[in-house]
Amino acid sequence: MQGALTLALEKTRQAGASRVHVIHLRIGALSGVVPDALQFAFEALAPGTPAENGRLAIENVPARFWCATCTREFQSDDMFAECPDCHKPSGELRAGREMELASMEID
Ligand SMILES: [Zn+2]
Repeated sequence: MQGALTLALEKTRQAGASRVHVIHLRIGALSGVVPDALQFAFEALAPGTPAENGRLAIENVPARFWCATCTREFQSDDMFAECPDCHKPSGELRAGREMELASMEID
């Protein structure tokens, strides 16, 4: 779970940044990442790094599934999602598992 944070701090070092204001992360609903826990991890990792006085901005990405029968996408918070039209379980998750570094605001 700390991978994205470590990566963000690594990138600021490479960019020669002295300060990190905001780290934007995209967290999928099914990624297993708890945003509160991520904030906690950030507060533990940030001291002594350029991100010391920065903050995390977390964008929650809803889970999206594909129904091949209806050829449509639908959203669900459940891993075993049913299509709202035909009520068949979807076999294809299209979004919702990401944990990505979206962007950073640095000096
Ligand atoms: Zn369907």
